[in-house]
Amino acid sequence: MNTLLPTTVVGSLPKPSWLAEPETLWSPWKLEGDALLEAKQDALRIAIHEQSRRGIDIVSDGEQTRQHFVTTFIEHLSGVDFEQRKTVRIRDRYDASVPTVVGAVRREQSVFVEDAKFLRATTDQPIKWTLPGPMTMVDTLYDDHYKSREKLAWEFATILNQEAKELEAAGVDIIQFDEPAFNVFLDEVKDWGVAALERAAEGLRAETAVHICYGYGIKANNDWKATLGSQWRQYEETFPLLQSSSIDIISLESQNSHVPMDLIELLRGKKVMLGAIDVASETIETPEEVADTLRKALQFVDADKLIASSNCGMAPFPRDVALAKLSALSAGTGIVREELERSAPKV
Ligand code: ZN
Repeated sequence: MNTLLPTTVVGSLPKPSWLAEPETLWSPWKLEGDALLEAKQDALRIAIHEQSRRGIDIVSDGEQTRQHFVTTFIEHLSGVDFEQRKTVRIRDRYDASVPTVVGAVRREQSVFVEDAKFLRATTDQPIKWTLPGPMTMVDTLYDDHYKSREKLAWEFATILNQEAKELEAAGVDIIQFDEPAFNVFLDEVKDWGVAALERAAEGLRAETAVHICYGYGIKANNDWKATLGSQWRQYEETFPLLQSSSIDIISLESQNSHVPMDLIELLRGKKVMLGAIDVASETIETPEEVADTLRKALQFVDADKLIASSNCGMAPFPRDVALAKLSALSAGTGIVREELERSAPKV
């Protein structure tokens, strides 16, 4: 693996059309039973093969085995009734019909551990696994039991920690928690969000990451982004809290976003997973564009702490677009890596 500026994907990649409806977020499976299990594993093999072939250093399952980055995890917990649905506003942005928390939430068994073991057996490269973050989980449900977002988040954090420890034992190198809610509920991030996240990551030897983005390139997100003005400064409030937290890696979006690059300085000392690939546009970045984004970031993060990635998941893209973007990411990162190696003092 490239130890300088390793590349990775944030999470999801498009699924093959024989597994689920393409270019659709959260689309239902086309198979069931054993055939579905086999198809998911085949899709995961393809995802690994393409990442590896296209120069991605830290590979993921491309979320081929799950339908939704939050709900699939929650489906495996007791205490949540998927039949009792309520309409709530997700991330203060769009209404969705969600399941109800009706009792104490508990993880009766592992959720992703078998999938992670399969991933581990499929590749020798470092692997990263994504889990939802506690606050984002809370924000995807109607709570009729705890009646407190903080209390429910704490319960989820405990459950996530159990799962993360098993993923670590299965050989996962980096465990990433997805917390898009951190860009919305800034007061809660301060009050209990970061503490709940640290609880989820407690005692892990694997590296831990938190991914905070402005969402997939879907209409509700794009409309929301249009209201955020010319400079997106949400990170300004959360980064100092994360800088002093126990989390190792902070994943943020940058390419084509209105996030001022100098906000990364607030994370100095932490590893930064920088989004150099836009997931809201099908236009393929040129390697030079990727290189330019990374060069700008290097003003604010040490080279040995920079990881190059996409802004967010790429599930909604046509497959050829997502794969071409992976190639652009590694080609662009390669340019900067060479520049750094050339300018490094010879010993
Ligand atoms: Zn994201």
